[in-house]
Amino acid sequence: MKQFTGLLIEFEEKIKHLIEELQFLKMRAYALEDENEKLRKEIMDVYEYYLKEAGDFRNQRDHRQRKGIENLARLYNEGFHICNMHFGQFRSEGDCLFCRGFLEKNSEGWQDERRV
Ligand SMILES: [Zn+2]
Repeated sequence: MKQFTGLLIEFEEKIKHLIEELQFLKMRAYALEDENEKLRKEIMDVYEYYLKEAGDFRNQRDHRQRKGIENLARLYNEGFHICNMHFGQFRSEGDCLFCRGFLEKNSEGWQDERRV
């Protein structure tokens, strides 16, 4: 009978030990969940930052492109060719299909992008 009591005490010790281990693992799980949440938030912040940067870069590029086309359109209206065929030459024949095609194609380009 004394042996049996001894076994029970030993068993109780083991259970206590297991409960301690369980508590430890629970704390670790909480800590990891917490860290995971923080990292997720950091990644989202970085992602949002880069999305914004990329957007700014695109707007700047669009703006420069638009300025360039505007300058060419002005040159065309002042009577010069802006097409590959006769670039910079005076338009003695009136409207040029190549120049007009170039302007139409490029201004459609930024109107489309602005809509997106
Ligand atoms: Zn032309």
